[in-house]
Amino acid sequence: MNMITNHLPTAELQALDAAHHMHPFSNQDELAERGARIITSASGVTLTDSEGNQILDAMAGLWCVNIGYGRDELADVAARQMRELPYYNTFFMTSHAPVIALSAKLAELAPGDLNHVFYAGSGSEANDTNIRMVRHYWSAKGKPDKNVIISRQNAYHGSTLGGASLGGMIPMHQQGGLPIPDVHHIPQPNWWSEGGDMSPEEFGLARAQELEKAILEIGEDRVAAFIAEPVQGAGGVIVPPESYYPEIQRICDKYEILLIADEVICGFGRTGNWFGSQTVGWTPHIMTIAKGLSSGYAPIGGSIVCDEVAKVVGATEFNHGYTYSGHPVAAAVALENLRILEEEDVIGHVRNVAGPHLKKKWQALADHPLVGEANLVGMMGSITLTPNKATRATFGEHAGSVGYKCREHCFANNLVMRHVGDRMIISPPLVITPEEIDTLIERATRALDLTYEQIKAEGLMG
Ligand SMILES: *Cc1c(COP(=O)(O)O)cnc(C)c1O
Repeated sequence: MNMITNHLPTAELQALDAAHHMHPFSNQDELAERGARIITSASGVTLTDSEGNQILDAMAGLWCVNIGYGRDELADVAARQMRELPYYNTFFMTSHAPVIALSAKLAELAPGDLNHVFYAGSGSEANDTNIRMVRHYWSAKGKPDKNVIISRQNAYHGSTLGGASLGGMIPMHQQGGLPIPDVHHIPQPNWWSEGGDMSPEEFGLARAQELEKAILEIGEDRVAAFIAEPVQGAGGVIVPPESYYPEIQRICDKYEILLIADEVICGFGRTGNWFGSQTVGWTPHIMTIAKGLSSGYAPIGGSIVCDEVAKVVGATEFNHGYTYSGHPVAAAVALENLRILEEEDVIGHVRNVAGPHLKKKWQALADHPLVGEANLVGMMGSITLTPNKATRATFGEHAGSVGYKCREHCFANNLVMRHVGDRMIISPPLVITPEEIDTLIERATRALDLTYEQIKAEGLMG
């Protein structure tokens, strides 16, 4: 299947794109100068661009295409649902079969008493819902001042006003007057960058105790909730030390606050379990979901809510919702995606086949002269580039530029790997085969070699 003849020539597409399409998280002038890469089709883990290049997508789009590209089942379900009932809302005491079936399925898959789903169109919207829901919950219980949400520096929780406020990304806060009031950020468990002389275990404990410090400072009667990604994704795939989450859980159990696990990346198999909370051993009251919920085939997100919160909120009229909350086509597509994940035992493939194979190869990258450490949980991984492994040195005034160079070499070698500063990150489709993993590692190694040669010549290796 080759669709590259079915559109305008690449240069014309690029010119129209730059002239009329404002891109997310992009410098439009730079984009206009270089021209966007135009993706025309995809299958499995492989993208095809308008020049016919075959690119291995080690990011699964934006961490979302868990079952891989090109699954006809999802297209068929979407077409059928569009014909039968393309849209109806879930406001005003109405419902429809796809959203009912999806909700029951999610309640079955989610751990414990997470049995109720509130839908959104995306992860950002779902986190906006969470802010309003936890504040409304405490208010309904007669504690309207219990409205502070504690999050973490360098967290990513989306790009709406609420989502970006919960997130701890300074460059995002600097645009548009963020964060909104009553959101507090504690330091992240990033041992490589911030651990100093502590062992990872000591550091994990210390960073978890930042939560207790914050609760005591702000006052337990003011803190509504704590939100965290089980493994930080967009912040650079930061795998917390093993001591971190048990201590977080101890603190959460001690104080009366709600726990929100942002499972937008970690959910639906990414870490080798259905949910990342299960992998790190953490019991949330609310889970944010999106991305892998539909494998990106349709825009849908939501909040899976525990019995107690659903009961309190459900006894009131919650003045909140989106036109597309529980969209029937998106719900049908998500349900079919969950069927495939389950029936094809994709999570078993992550745990027993792809995960162990990738782990062995990925960790071996730490032997490369440019790589300080390699981390991997399930199918999300990071490597840190450094001029000196022993001292965990940064590139100083050139920080961030080396990762960017490596990303460019990856692109040129038909591999999509992302950079966050000088960390290189991957999150491939969960269905990736061992042979495809070998190709991924070969291309990543070539990109690392080329980057190393380039920055040595530029004198950046110190
Ligand atoms: C991507 C992401 C979001 C935001 O989801 P959108 O669908 O882009 O709004 C929220 N939280 C996490 C952890 C994410 O990775």
